[in-house]
Amino acid sequence: MPAQLPGIERLGDLNGKKVLVRVDFNTPVHLVDGRLEVADDFRIRATLPLLEDLKSRGALVACMTHFGRPNGKVVPEFSVEPVRRRLNELCDGIQLLENLRFNPGEEANDPAFGASLVEGFDCFINEAFGASHRAHASIMIPPTLLPSAAGPNLQKEVSTLLGALENPVRPFVAIVGGAKVKDKLAITKVLSQKADAVIVGGGMAYTFEFAEGRTIGGSLFDETNVENCRELLATGKIRIPIDSRGLENGQPFGPDGGIAPVQSFGEDIPEGSMGLDIGTLSAAMFVEEILNAGTILWNGPMGVFEDTRFATGTEAIANAVATSKGFSVVGGGDSVAAIQKFHLENEVDFVSTGGGASLELVELGDLPGLRALRDSKVGA
Ligand code: AMP
Repeated sequence: MPAQLPGIERLGDLNGKKVLVRVDFNTPVHLVDGRLEVADDFRIRATLPLLEDLKSRGALVACMTHFGRPNGKVVPEFSVEPVRRRLNELCDGIQLLENLRFNPGEEANDPAFGASLVEGFDCFINEAFGASHRAHASIMIPPTLLPSAAGPNLQKEVSTLLGALENPVRPFVAIVGGAKVKDKLAITKVLSQKADAVIVGGGMAYTFEFAEGRTIGGSLFDETNVENCRELLATGKIRIPIDSRGLENGQPFGPDGGIAPVQSFGEDIPEGSMGLDIGTLSAAMFVEEILNAGTILWNGPMGVFEDTRFATGTEAIANAVATSKGFSVVGGGDSVAAIQKFHLENEVDFVSTGGGASLELVELGDLPGLRALRDSKVGA
């Protein structure tokens, strides 16, 4: 496991100090009476313990965040104004700088832009786990110029994810799903080395099924990764579905649903059909393995869970993860969305807030933003 991150204690007495905090307030917004307002303030509320703590120590605090994708230009609809209003309602006296991505220097990791951000500040805290896999200026440059530390949420995300991975209570069962096998191969490989079993579901499972010599009809398929899937299957750790549910090829599916009858398949899917969810036998087999686990790491849905016809597999897995006595960690955007859809977010031990960041941390064991904090020698 990489060395410990520097904590806030490292910054010493903060009374009267100007503290710059990188947060991830990239929250959904919606129109209310013609004005954009924050639709979900979870990410803002998550930073309140740190912000209140800093205020109580007498620090003067400014936060900075990216917000949407304005692509290096000032785009009024991507102003942080709605976020600033909500932040001020939740916590008095905290400044919020304008959207970092209004300046092309942010995503280009431009040292001059990074230096302009820290002007007038005494120290820097990174509390943006969800942005720490990106080598952007606001993440990378401040630790080279100011005494710097990791915020409590960042610390907790990293220690929980790496702790589950490196010191799991066994059996350690990992679950990966989602649409694209190419996006998830690297993490599946790492997990096959660390876990006792890796359950593979969702659209990505069909390339594994094909690699085993089954027919998969018109299901999602990535021809270029068949050999990689075959190699992973040879580890003996990978569990793939033994049945599926789906539709005739070409029938619509998705959040708006459809009326075509749902088809059930065994191991093979016929030429004219596609698989969109794991079947009941697979769900029962996976649930049993999950209920016996000491540690569970879940990333990615088992099917097109946005369509109620194909949410059954993901719901069964979500329930098992929630009920299992094992230590359960859910990470990655869509499995978090799934666990929220089934109202089980409070039943699991830890929900990681950073989709891409949690995937990359599990895959590579470290992130650029974490390295920047550990390398920060200013004031040490
Ligand atoms: P990802 O972003 O790769 O985690 O994929 C999540 C998406 O995969 C969700 O929107 C699901 O609807 C989709 N998905 C899961 N299983 C399937 C499947 N069998 N066929 C098509 N899409 C799927």
